[in-house]
Amino acid sequence: MFRGSYFFETTINHYRQPNYLGDNGLDWANSEMLSSYNAEMNSVISAFKEWQPNTNPDAYYLFVVPKFSEGGVEGFMPRNRRFGFVTLSQLDARLVAHEIGHGAFNLRHTFPEVPQGSTDNLSDYPPAGGQAADSQTSC
Ligand SMILES: [Zn+2]
Repeated sequence: MFRGSYFFETTINHYRQPNYLGDNGLDWANSEMLSSYNAEMNSVISAFKEWQPNTNPDAYYLFVVPKFSEGGVEGFMPRNRRFGFVTLSQLDARLVAHEIGHGAFNLRHTFPEVPQGSTDNLSDYPPAGGQAADSQTSC
């Protein structure tokens, strides 16, 4: 359990690159690769660093992508990393907090130790059939 408070300043930059990801959306890392970025993710991060060479080393960045190549995947941020990806269709405070929890606070999912979808913990997935039609899978 975290104690104390954290301050997050949110800045939104628009950097649209039509068809940069191809029609299939952002390539999904398979489940064995959840601790690292795949080639397409690294490509997006590199393009961002070229566009914004003076990124804040203490900041965390979430890229909003149209979709992932894997259906139902709505977010991805490796633990203890600065860059993550979320889909526009599921972009809400819960998803952002879930992903930042991985990247900034090294949080793991609550499952499988606790049954998936059985809590309202940010590190759990929302129960299926919740507010969104999609399964809201994220990593
Ligand atoms: Zn997750």
